[in-house]
Amino acid sequence: MKFEKHFLMNLDLLENRINIACGKAGRSRSEVELMAVTKTHSEKAPELALSSGLTRIGENRVQEAADKRPLVHQENGIWELIGPLQSNKARLAVRTFDRIQTVDRTKLVGQLDRICSEEGKNEYPVLMQVNVGDDPTKHGCNSEDSQALAEAIMGSKHLRLEGLMTIGEFSDQERVVRPTFEKLRQLRDKLENQLGVKLPELSMGMTGDLEWAIEEGSSMIRVGTALFGRRKARQSPS
Ligand SMILES: *Cc1c(COP(=O)(O)O)cnc(C)c1O
Repeated sequence: MKFEKHFLMNLDLLENRINIACGKAGRSRSEVELMAVTKTHSEKAPELALSSGLTRIGENRVQEAADKRPLVHQENGIWELIGPLQSNKARLAVRTFDRIQTVDRTKLVGQLDRICSEEGKNEYPVLMQVNVGDDPTKHGCNSEDSQALAEAIMGSKHLRLEGLMTIGEFSDQERVVRPTFEKLRQLRDKLENQLGVKLPELSMGMTGDLEWAIEEGSSMIRVGTALFGRRKARQSPS
């Protein structure tokens, strides 16, 4: 009950933050999707989120999500992988998630394409994770490799590229964090022009930096801490 009460209060506060940021950016609230990041929490977390009207659930570990999802009663959730994907987990990831946000190398594209074919998934939606800040501690393809990666996904038979994802710099300084979000949007615009496609999804912004992400055009913020409180197990996003 306590977890639930906190969650509802947190959701209220978070909605406030989102609304203010949207107002400041001259954007409509409906342009920004809120994903509930439930990693390290029990199935209670996605259940609460889904009963409160949220539909997107983010998890960063394949096995954890594969164990958790069957325990969740609501069927309306759209589950997305937001953590790094190892090749040996690719099949379980495709079976567990409705979308993978972290495609970051061409080799993985070939594998996912084959697996989707075998699993009977057509137009399986993916995002590319781009390490726009060229941060050696982060996953994601470099900006220079992003066009080749996008072309590989678009050339695959069973994957559909819906946009880009990034993780902001680990800093509480706007002048440090915000440029990464600006770069991701500019890269998206460039790829749309070069490839002649629409890439509507810009997945960026978390608890500490969602306002800057929204101001830079985020279409989806991924929020854990601000909804469910601090995680016990330390798991830095990568
Ligand atoms: C954990 C995680 C989040 C959520 O982070 P919070 O700071 O708890 O909101 C978002 N994106 C990714 C990729 C993550 O791993």
